[in-house]
Amino acid sequence: MDKTIEESIAEAIEKKELQAYYQPKYDAITGKIVGAEALVRWIKESGDVIPPVLFIPALEQTDAVNQVDWCILEQACATVLELREQGVKMQLSINFSRWHVKETDFLEKLNTIVDRYHIPHKYVEVEITESALISESEKILGWVKEIRDAEYSVAIDDFGSGLSSLQFVKDIPADVLKIDRSLLSGNCENEKERIVLESIFYFSKRLNMKTVAEGVETQEQLGFLRTCSCDQIQGFIFAKPMPKEEFRQLVIEKNDGMDAGDILQIQAPSGAAKLLMDAVFMKYPLVIFANLTRNSYYMMVYDNFSTTSCPSAGVFDELIEHGTATMHPEDRDIFRMTFNRRNLLRAYEQGRESVTAITRQLGDDGIYREVETSDFFVKHPSVDDVLTITLCDVRG
Ligand code: C2E
Ligand code: MG
Ligand code: MG
Repeated sequence: MDKTIEESIAEAIEKKELQAYYQPKYDAITGKIVGAEALVRWIKESGDVIPPVLFIPALEQTDAVNQVDWCILEQACATVLELREQGVKMQLSINFSRWHVKETDFLEKLNTIVDRYHIPHKYVEVEITESALISESEKILGWVKEIRDAEYSVAIDDFGSGLSSLQFVKDIPADVLKIDRSLLSGNCENEKERIVLESIFYFSKRLNMKTVAEGVETQEQLGFLRTCSCDQIQGFIFAKPMPKEEFRQLVIEKNDGMDAGDILQIQAPSGAAKLLMDAVFMKYPLVIFANLTRNSYYMMVYDNFSTTSCPSAGVFDELIEHGTATMHPEDRDIFRMTFNRRNLLRAYEQGRESVTAITRQLGDDGIYREVETSDFFVKHPSVDDVLTITLCDVRG
């Protein structure tokens, strides 16, 4: 009697016929390899290499596919360790079928295998396909959270290939969004296609998710993706999936990257705006945007600047009250008088371009520092609201 596919795979695992191939992921700007995805290949005794499309879909009908994933994870961990021993710290990602979401001891199994190789969890990335977000919608959020709490990275694979709702992407605490190649046409010339892709990269950035474009094959696609601030590229344009030894050599001996070109040409103007903010932050670690007419604000804070637990957005009047309380008692009146909303609006009506005050402010470390706070009145092209940008220059 013929063997079932499940039986054949179990036998193939036993005979070590399933092998992890690795497809490198490249930094979109520097062209350096920054990680890789482990992809299963079935190497028959004859030497024939069977691609996953010929056996994974059949196996995915049941949880029999899970044994393949664990087998590939094991090999990927061994590779992470081997590379570390040769001085290269590289993260590898592994595909996990949607059936794992139902496994109650998934994390335990994951830990058992990974910890056997003594590698930090962040070097292992769990890929779960977009379609699982729908089919396992009830469990998936908790599942992802648990894995991330254990410090593994989580990627949503094949984003855009199916019908996943943006609602899920918004809620799911994943680290990485892998954009499916079906969203990329050969030359990225179609205006609507470009708009959809640009929006995906934009919202991923806003949601703090890294982006990987899959299936990149042409220079036109690469050129376009670089202007969208896509973080990483995985595709035949750079490399196909390859056996471990070939991958090891590539990473260790030939990972030089490419000339990044003129970054101002590639990423203007959004990249330029980001660079400008970096320069602004060098002098002003705290920048506040306020709408005096609507009594609202939001702030942008440089990474290592400590603010005394002030919400990053909210009611402007409350911000000033909060700020006043952090000032040296002798400076509170001048701060409140200068920056309360009524007086700022009056200054604006009198034609002032900015308002400045120097006060002593208590830092989170308990030390008073002199702060020069300047509010600049700015105009939005489409509304009449009175807006200010506050730059805080902390001395000493
Ligand atoms: P995937 O996880 O989305 O992996 C990316 C697939 O796109 C790979 O196909 C890769 O070879 C292919 N690809 C990458 N760049 C290009 C390109 O520029 N052009 C084209 N035409 N294709 C490109 P592969 O290795 O045949 O794997 C197919 C799928 O099989 C994977 O899609 C994944 O869903 C599944 N798979 C592979 N290995 C495993 C595994 O260990 N476990 C599970 N559960 N699924 C796996
Ligand atoms: Mg994948
Ligand atoms: Mg994919």
